[in-house]
Amino acid sequence: MSQSSMIKKTDAIKEGLLQRKRELEAGIKQLQLDNDVSDQIQDSGDQAISSAFESLKSSLHNNEYEEFKMIEKALEMIEAGSYGMCVDCQEAISEKRLKSYPNATRCILCQEKVEEENQKNDTNSYF
Ligand SMILES: [Zn+2]
Repeated sequence: MSQSSMIKKTDAIKEGLLQRKRELEAGIKQLQLDNDVSDQIQDSGDQAISSAFESLKSSLHNNEYEEFKMIEKALEMIEAGSYGMCVDCQEAISEKRLKSYPNATRCILCQEKVEEENQKNDTNSYF
């Protein structure tokens, strides 16, 4: 694959990620209003959104919070030029997986391992 076609591909992915991030941010802003924590958030920068997320964590579906964090991570990786590589094993994440999960930061094998671990931890905390 040539360098330019890779850049083009991440551009499209980046657009999609930014759009989804905006949707999540809009949801957060609504939650802020509902929860009346707006005076804790003085400006509307990324840092403020992140801290809003922290303070609203309990009111959010965990999935949305996780998704937001993963999108931020994926955008960072696009900027750093390391997007599409697994953060755990440094292998390339398959294109098919990136299409289905553009915010994936792990290959399918490492992701499964993490999810298995999480399930174990959940089980431990419940029993
Ligand atoms: Zn991996």
